[in-house]
Amino acid sequence: MHRRVAHLVGVLLVIVSAAPSAQDISRCLASLRPQAVKAGVSAAAFDRHTRAVVADPTVLERLDYQPEFRTAIWDYLAGLVDEERVTDGRRMLVEWRDTLAAVEARFGVDPATVVAVWGVESDYGRRAGGRPLVTSLATLSCLGRRQSFFRRELLATIAILEELGLDTDALVGSWAGAFGQTQFIPTTYQRVAVDFDGDGRRDLVGSVPDALGSTASYLERSGWRSGERWGLEVVLPRGFDPATAGRRNRRPLGEWAAMGVRPVDGGALPDSSSPAAVLLPAGPDGPAFLVLRNFDAIYAYNAAESYALAIAHLSDRLRGAGPFVRPWPTDDPGLSRRARRELQQRLVGRGHDIGEVDGLIGDRTRRAIQAEQRRLGLEPDGRAGQRILEALRAGG
Ligand code: CA
Repeated sequence: MHRRVAHLVGVLLVIVSAAPSAQDISRCLASLRPQAVKAGVSAAAFDRHTRAVVADPTVLERLDYQPEFRTAIWDYLAGLVDEERVTDGRRMLVEWRDTLAAVEARFGVDPATVVAVWGVESDYGRRAGGRPLVTSLATLSCLGRRQSFFRRELLATIAILEELGLDTDALVGSWAGAFGQTQFIPTTYQRVAVDFDGDGRRDLVGSVPDALGSTASYLERSGWRSGERWGLEVVLPRGFDPATAGRRNRRPLGEWAAMGVRPVDGGALPDSSSPAAVLLPAGPDGPAFLVLRNFDAIYAYNAAESYALAIAHLSDRLRGAGPFVRPWPTDDPGLSRRARRELQQRLVGRGHDIGEVDGLIGDRTRRAIQAEQRRLGLEPDGRAGQRILEALRAGG
């Protein structure tokens, strides 16, 4: 009897908590119809694609997610530029050689850079996100922060569904609306995407040539300088003032050369009219980089220096270069995706609930690592690094 009452109360709670948000969002969506028509989406299309939408509260959780742990630059790069991604990328350079040559001829962006963006954005088309865009963006358009931003993306999504003749849920991507092999948000697709294979459709989900062409198109519009590198690892002169570093502190290359900044592998700095900046992503004790105009073009794709450095470095690795010369200032280096999966497997083996063994280090994996670090007498920083992996391998 009690159980039955509890069950009924449970059902009622679900109905009570689900109903208002579903209602709110349908009224809110209906109020967007005039904006849709103004944006060139027919009222009929807007209604057809929004009629059945129910809010997805997990999208709001992602919007408000605050990571409990900070990611060190060497951990970030160890996962994005690992041997697996380098090997896969070199294979893609061969497989798509003709397309990449045509892309370079049209947009002036070299194959290694285009493939590096592809590899970081979607793991060469393998990870593009699985959430229906309309559901996510309708939720974000009506609930939570930044609604006006997401409303433009929702209307652009519906326009794209119409352009491609797709069903409402056929376009899937990240919780924030990035989709396809280039992970463009819908308004970026509208502005930048190109039909590179010439079939009349701009298809960044199913067409590799369209995805590669659109990536190069984006970089070209962001000021890519054909034939110039992104930058390089450098050695700084003794007594270099770290306050001189920073992406916005631009100087002609000649000034850096006169200060004694040198390529890490010897020789002279490249010859370029691009103003250059020194980056010290881990401070004065880590690797130093001199970045040119093309680093900014990559940065425009996703405004984070660590992101741009990952793509820049992967592009060099795809051209045959090795890892950075100067080590990161840590005695506990980061892990590749393969090693992360092994670490997660070992955490599961020790009885931790970390969710899926997917190589993605989220808060649950971090808390499990912390618990193991405490047990083993290591510093409980929650980092997925070599030290904890080796301790668990040793059966500690
Ligand atoms: Ca196409």
